Amino acid sequence: MGEFVFSPPAPAAVAILGRSERFPIRRIFCVGRNYAAHAKEMGVAVDRDAPFYFTKASDHAVASGSKVPYPPGTRNYHHEVELVVAIGKGGFRIPESNALDHVFGYGCGLDMTRRDLQAAAKEKQRPWDIGKDVEQSAVVGDIEPAADIGHPNRGHIELRVNGQPKQSGDLSDLIHGVAAVIAHLSQYYHLQQGDLIFTGTPEGVGPVKAGDRLEGSIEGVGTIALQIEDPL
Ligand code: MN
Repeated sequence: MGEFVFSPPAPAAVAILGRSERFPIRRIFCVGRNYAAHAKEMGVAVDRDAPFYFTKASDHAVASGSKVPYPPGTRNYHHEVELVVAIGKGGFRIPESNALDHVFGYGCGLDMTRRDLQAAAKEKQRPWDIGKDVEQSAVVGDIEPAADIGHPNRGHIELRVNGQPKQSGDLSDLIHGVAAVIAHLSQYYHLQQGDLIFTGTPEGVGPVKAGDRLEGSIEGVGTIALQIEDPL
């Protein structure tokens, strides 16, 4: 084994509630349009046949409670609060019937989005990367092990900005549930320990500005917080 020409970066990681060990993040998959009310507010149709995905680099993960600068290149940076699935056991072509066996735990997350650039990309039929794969845009709260909380399939999910309610929904409204997403995604990827899946956001997405304080929660899962600072 040769030496590296420079030191490779430490893996991204997220805290695990009640444990000193952290959860190393491998890849970040995100499901689009997985709540009907959010698809409607985006003016797009829901696909009930199959979920679709985009990805964020694991480098873009930040912990709950972080302070992040308002990102460059956008005038419409949006919050999306989401249930995050942390994969604990890899697999390929996983049957839906035992998909939940592959879950290490769950967290509350924010899929922060340059909505103006995503909308422009959609219009030009270009990829969404510049709108979605944003530095410091994958905010992940502490992972709650499934061994402690089970596998939530209902529960209130919400986001407040400066104390004002903005997003509100229920996990039971997910069009493609956690097991279905794992079964589908694993037809295309060899899921690995450390992969995270953001499962989509309920209605009420909207813009943030420097100085805003974001606080979210998912009943039975956990909380998330983010502070938006002045742009660099
Ligand atoms: Mn999202």
